[in-house]
Amino acid sequence: MRGSRTSHLAILARAIGIPTVMGILDFPWQQMDGQELIVDGYQGRVYTNPPERLRKRFASIIAEEEALNREFEKLRDEPCETKDSYRLPLWVNTGLMTDVFRSLDRGAEGVGLYRSEVPFQLNERFPSEEEQRQIYREQLQAFHPLPVTMRTLDIGGDKPLSYFPITEDNPYLGWRGIRVSLDHPEIFLVQIRGMLKASAGLNNLRIMLPMITSISEINTAITLIHRAHEELLEDKLDIKLPAIGVMIEIPATVYQIREIARLVDFLSVGSNDLTQYLLAVDRNNPRVAKLYQSFHPALLRALDWIAKECHKEGKMVSVCGEMAGDPCAAVLLMAMGYDMLSMNANNIPRVKSVIRNIRLEDARNIHANVMKMTSTAEITDYVENTLEKLGINPRFIKGQNIH
Ligand code: PEP
Ligand code: MG
Repeated sequence: MRGSRTSHLAILARAIGIPTVMGILDFPWQQMDGQELIVDGYQGRVYTNPPERLRKRFASIIAEEEALNREFEKLRDEPCETKDSYRLPLWVNTGLMTDVFRSLDRGAEGVGLYRSEVPFQLNERFPSEEEQRQIYREQLQAFHPLPVTMRTLDIGGDKPLSYFPITEDNPYLGWRGIRVSLDHPEIFLVQIRGMLKASAGLNNLRIMLPMITSISEINTAITLIHRAHEELLEDKLDIKLPAIGVMIEIPATVYQIREIARLVDFLSVGSNDLTQYLLAVDRNNPRVAKLYQSFHPALLRALDWIAKECHKEGKMVSVCGEMAGDPCAAVLLMAMGYDMLSMNANNIPRVKSVIRNIRLEDARNIHANVMKMTSTAEITDYVENTLEKLGINPRFIKGQNIH
């Protein structure tokens, strides 16, 4: 597949549970027809016409995975709680309807990110207000009474709409997310009305704004949401104003985090984009995939700062990028004080299992040591080795079958 680990294609593959290898350059696609392949998403390798020895090895890895999944089923109704009784709520990221069933099966405690652009991408034109209302209602109803965080349309970057082409030299620095919504308030308002109407009688909706750069964007978006809400009240619809939050994805917002926190009800770090913008590494470019590092000391410092500053304003803050579903990163994020982690359904049991097998105190020690380190490699080795020493299954620590 083209792209890298945090491309949207990889995120969808992970959600569906398909082993995937991203960013193979010069792959001879045409010669693959009819050939047997093994896709090793853990190591990032594809084997063509594998010999018997290799087949056996992978058959035993698959059997091991199945056994693990059976173990995971037992965890479904157990709380995500450390050995010293610290609760860390695990929520889920959704977009496809199949995610809903998977999430409920895995014991998600809410939806931390519903990617509303996914149904738009599956359509051939902008869905009408009523069509959107029905799609959103299904999500809200399926999880009710659990909260569902609906992100407003986040197109652009590597999320095109066939019927709304955007051509730019630098799509990641261009017309994305809230920028499109605020330039087209008619599209935004239809979406907000669809969400608000869908929440009638359920009241479990939270609205989240993507790709925020400035305070003025937040103020404008909130004004529009209030306007849509008031119009519905005038139409005699009994709809509660939902909690409104923003995504922290752009470095500028890290430096204005307290002012932002004062304006909203909650914040969620989109670590996929924050990583790409902080490190100046295109999340889709396989040539620089090695430089896209969740454990870069600068990124960890930013994440630590964000959590602390949000709490000074008494606001709940979570992480909903792919990092939240990585057990090693989850341990660090818990120690930093993140109130909740939101991830694809397949990662919930893995993360829960690791959290249930350590103490908050262990996590805080790991975090304190990590904050003194200066290189990604040093941090990665240290976290993985320490968790292994604490008795965590190495299979949980490494990989998500997407490379
Ligand atoms: C993120 O950027 O971390 C995020 C969750 O949003 P997306 O991956 O959809 O850009
Ligand atoms: Mg993003």
